[in-house]
Amino acid sequence: MLPTLVLVGRPNVGKSTLFNRLTRSRDALVADLPGLTRDRHYGRGRVGERPYLVVDTGGLEPVAKEGIMHEMAKQTRQAVDEADLVLFIVDGRDGLTPQDRIIATQLRKTGRPVMLLVNKAEGMRRERVTADFHELGLGEPIPISSAHGDNVAEMIEVALDEL
Ligand code: GDP
Ligand code: MG
Repeated sequence: MLPTLVLVGRPNVGKSTLFNRLTRSRDALVADLPGLTRDRHYGRGRVGERPYLVVDTGGLEPVAKEGIMHEMAKQTRQAVDEADLVLFIVDGRDGLTPQDRIIATQLRKTGRPVMLLVNKAEGMRRERVTADFHELGLGEPIPISSAHGDNVAEMIEVALDEL
């Protein structure tokens, strides 16, 4: 069984961009429009000799009337349950949002291990881009740039080491 990394986060934080980089595929649709990714996408990747499976969830998109928790319960919990590690992605340009807090609470309830990734961090100082996110209580936030690739391979090595 390959270690399974599941990407979770509110719309537009860059999950599909990260998925594409981690799998070097164009399977996941990347768009400016929230809500485009509706299904789970599975892809394989490797760092060095170490293979892994990545799941790009669309489960938090769109935010339904019933609320993000409802959507997560329905569509994403299964993926999270299958995760060896959840990669919870937030947007370092937007800073901490109410949706991020709700997702963090939900993830804590699942009991799955979580790594907190602060995306869109290219060109920003580490302390500045991560400062907001410590209060989520999910450990040290790790800055990455999915679009540029900054710190992505290093982050995956740390992730695989933690399994
Ligand atoms: P998803 O909804 O979470 O799957 O997000 P997408 O991967 O579709 O990306 C949403 C938007 O953020 C797109 O316009 C991406 O080009 C942009 N984006 C993704 N990663 C980065 C990044 O590392 N830096 C910057 N500046 N933009 C990014
Ligand atoms: Mg997407």
